[in-house]
Amino acid sequence: MTESASPALASSAAIEDAAVLIRKAERAVVLTGAGISTPSGIPDFRSEGSGLWSRDEPMEVASLHTFRTAPERFFNWFQPLAGQIFNAQPNAAHKALAEFEAAGYIRTIITQNIDALHQKAGSEHVIEMHGTLRTLSCTSCFKQFEADPFLQPYIETGKIPQCLSCNGILKPDVILFGEQLPQSAWYEAQRAARQCDLMVVAGSSLEVLPVAGLPMQALDRGAHLIIINNTPTYLNVRADVVILDDVATTIPEIAKRVFHG
Ligand SMILES: [Zn+2]
Repeated sequence: MTESASPALASSAAIEDAAVLIRKAERAVVLTGAGISTPSGIPDFRSEGSGLWSRDEPMEVASLHTFRTAPERFFNWFQPLAGQIFNAQPNAAHKALAEFEAAGYIRTIITQNIDALHQKAGSEHVIEMHGTLRTLSCTSCFKQFEADPFLQPYIETGKIPQCLSCNGILKPDVILFGEQLPQSAWYEAQRAARQCDLMVVAGSSLEVLPVAGLPMQALDRGAHLIIINNTPTYLNVRADVVILDDVATTIPEIAKRVFHG
């Protein structure tokens, strides 16, 4: 295992080892978490100190129970985060992953993020484990709408988005605490994890189940594992390459080696 813990720049040996594995892989899958979106200005709402913990505990306010019983509390809490997501742009890490996919180096991105920054960067095959903020669904008639025309007024005024057909409350198509993961996404992610020959964990601390178990499924079938994250994960001891650093600086460095040797 090559490990680099430099806060300034990951060791070039670890970067090179990661590049070699990506070049050799035939069915690489990338698993991304909040750490890939924080450089784009989206706070990790699971982290205390992100600002989103000031009044409410996210696991309580961003739960299906709160949404059903006191939707205005959810929408109040979500308003600043929705604004940050709405205005965010993909960073160098998102762009490098899109280039890897376009060049055939990776097949699939499994993401825990709801911000669609991978798609904005040009990635095509993205499995969104926790849903997406790109669409909203009516809680009464289940009609689905593109989110943008509803999000802008909500972000500006805090007014709860309502269904154009029946005036029901529109729920962002994101998975709240206490809500089941979308089944098709989960099956697809498991299949990708079991079939891959390389998994790259990028910006996830692997703390949220069941997604955190996917790299284990890949390892159990003999895949290589690269972990790039600011903080250690439970699988660092099993990884071929560990880079304890920011993904927005590291992944473009790896891309340079993959594309230009
Ligand atoms: Zn409706």
